Amino acid sequence: MNDAAYQQCIHPACEEKYPITDIRVSCGKCGGLLDIRYDWSKLPTPKNLNFFEHRWSTKGIGSDGRLDFSGVWRFRELMPFYRTEADIVTIGEGRTVLQQADLLAREIGVKAGKLMLQYEGLNPSGSFKDNGMAAAFTHARIVGAKRVACASTGNTSASLAMFASLAQMRGIVFIGSGRISFGKLSQALDYGALTLQIQGDFDACLRRIRQIAVDRPKMGIYLMNSVNPFRLEGQKSIMFRVLEAMDWRSPDWIIVPGGNLGNCSAFGKAFSELKELGLIQKIPRLAVINATGANTLNEVFTRQGVRWNNGQYDATVVQKLYAGMDESNYSPHTVASAIEISRPVNLPKALRALDVMNGVVREVSDEEILEHRALVARYGFGCEPASAASVAGLRKLLAEQVISPDESVVCILTGHELKDPNVTVKYHTGVDMKSVQDLAPRSEPHGKLSNPPVQVEDDLEAIIRAIGVEGI
Ligand SMILES: *Cc1c(COP(=O)(O)O)cnc(C)c1O
Ligand SMILES: [Zn+2]
Repeated sequence: MNDAAYQQCIHPACEEKYPITDIRVSCGKCGGLLDIRYDWSKLPTPKNLNFFEHRWSTKGIGSDGRLDFSGVWRFRELMPFYRTEADIVTIGEGRTVLQQADLLAREIGVKAGKLMLQYEGLNPSGSFKDNGMAAAFTHARIVGAKRVACASTGNTSASLAMFASLAQMRGIVFIGSGRISFGKLSQALDYGALTLQIQGDFDACLRRIRQIAVDRPKMGIYLMNSVNPFRLEGQKSIMFRVLEAMDWRSPDWIIVPGGNLGNCSAFGKAFSELKELGLIQKIPRLAVINATGANTLNEVFTRQGVRWNNGQYDATVVQKLYAGMDESNYSPHTVASAIEISRPVNLPKALRALDVMNGVVREVSDEEILEHRALVARYGFGCEPASAASVAGLRKLLAEQVISPDESVVCILTGHELKDPNVTVKYHTGVDMKSVQDLAPRSEPHGKLSNPPVQVEDDLEAIIRAIGVEGI
């Protein structure tokens, strides 16, 4: 299938192409981000979206069952980068649901029947990240990767560790000191990933992992952070499922929290492809919600007015912002740890998605996030703090009359409530159970499969020794 699929630089002034089998995370010519692109005319693309309908009902039985069982791969004709179906990695991810939330709608001031929650916490590892990992692991299998790695605020590492154990690859997870919730950390350890705790923050982890995965290809480590364009292919399926649940008609609005901005970028790509293929009439509007303590996109897009501008966006605004952060030693800070990122790698793609979907960006405070997280739970949908930014953002956009009460709105609940129980307990009791500041084992673990995190200095040689690849 994959002659008709290729990788391509997103910048209209460059558009350099690379084969699907290349392992790269940026354009070799201009350094830009990459897209997975398709020559649809060479592919058996369905003529309408109802084509996918029967697959929901096969329940994993029958010859195509393994793929139809997945909420990602039952839309495989819309992400056809794999060679054969045997390449595909799946654990039944994406069997998530769109729920009409009338009680929450009444509370927030949306007309009954108009507010929906896309509950991605129902994924096997408890967050939407599984959608993207299913696709990226499929690519990793195609290129024969043996080791896969990511730097993570938590959910990426949980999902990576799960898929690595499933696909029998070595998972390597870089976490910073502190600021990872117990729920997420426990998954990385339990699924058997080598967990390296660097003395530094998320940015430090990302810098180290690039040095390992990109600058030292001989180590054979495949990068799973969301600069990996294959992850975004899988995340398109979140929008396909929203459409499926709405009888293939677009809602008026999609609202999603923004961290590294992979998800909103994937949504924009999904809709521009569906439109290009003539499979939908209307593209919904997009609202991306930052936390106030990690608000780069809101600063760039809303306050400074930077627009995609067909790829000619004003990058100097972003450079100046980052230079200022460097100068003041700024690091982002929010209770919504999954979106605590101040240099979102997918920023250009997010600008493009905002352009395609006529989007807006807002930020919400930690207090708004915590109150809306509790509110969502009160009406039956437990989610982690970052997810509730979408609902808090809806409240704000209603107050501003950007969204009207009779428009249909889908808020993406990105991760499960049990990911971060400390936040919930603290909210309800005032008791602050300490986060994972220092993971040095207090006593020797005794389990046969104990897999404690490895403490490493923020030093490249020490990190390479800890990973234990021979002959580098
Ligand atoms: C990763 C994550 C986000 C942020 O998504 P991006 O694609 O990085 O913008 C939001 N919520 C949760 C629960 C996440 O795990
Ligand atoms: Zn380029």
